[in-house]
Amino acid sequence: MLEAEATIRLSVFLAVLAGMIVLERALPWRVARPLGMWRWPHNLGLVVLGSVLVRLVVPAPAMGAAFWAETRGIGLFHWLALPGWVAVPIAVVLLDFLIYLQHRVFHAIPWLWRLHRVHHADTEMDATTGLRFHPLEILLSVFIKMAAAVVLGIPPEAMLIFEVLLNASSMFEHAAITLPPRLDSALRQVIVTPSLHRIHHSERRHETDSNFGFNLSLWDRWLGTLRSQPDGPITLGIGTYNAARDQRIDQLVAQPFRRR
Ligand SMILES: [Zn+2]
Repeated sequence: MLEAEATIRLSVFLAVLAGMIVLERALPWRVARPLGMWRWPHNLGLVVLGSVLVRLVVPAPAMGAAFWAETRGIGLFHWLALPGWVAVPIAVVLLDFLIYLQHRVFHAIPWLWRLHRVHHADTEMDATTGLRFHPLEILLSVFIKMAAAVVLGIPPEAMLIFEVLLNASSMFEHAAITLPPRLDSALRQVIVTPSLHRIHHSERRHETDSNFGFNLSLWDRWLGTLRSQPDGPITLGIGTYNAARDQRIDQLVAQPFRRR
């Protein structure tokens, strides 16, 4: 399964990215995007750097930890010994809640915000924004998922489903698409849609500190962090890092360590 993991993840990633690029043309979110595709190698380059860093530090990340816990019978789900068809969906939902909490923590703690800010500093949004995270943030997320895999005894199948889902949903909710209004409002009741997540990328801080969910919008709804509409037209990005040269990969890597 570990060998198949890389193939499954890469294939779904490429298919969803291609699908989103098509959707961005079929159902475009009509805002000016002067940098457009110029940003792609920088945003994609950052995710490549992150993946290389993770491989160098932990050869078998979240899935490896899930297998390790399974073979030793460690963690909540293994102690409960639930059948797979019960444990796997519950574990996937639980991981989604965990990532919601992690996202809130990355906004609340200043040095973590400096890492996460690199993602928010994209002055334009499309599917590649959903991949643009600082390599150190990617590494920290891997450690958090590894800890969850061991403490909760996340079944490896659930971890794989979650990782594939998270990657796909991240590209979807950042995509520059406008869903038909009725579909959008129906989906919003349960999942995060692009229109909902764009509010999270607003320059207005109270809007940035809302809509933290990645897959389910229920966590924001239940915990009072949901914001259905922005206060006005949304300006994307972080004011102090909105020059075109700030979107270059070298600047993105250095951004958390600079003061402005
Ligand atoms: Zn955020």
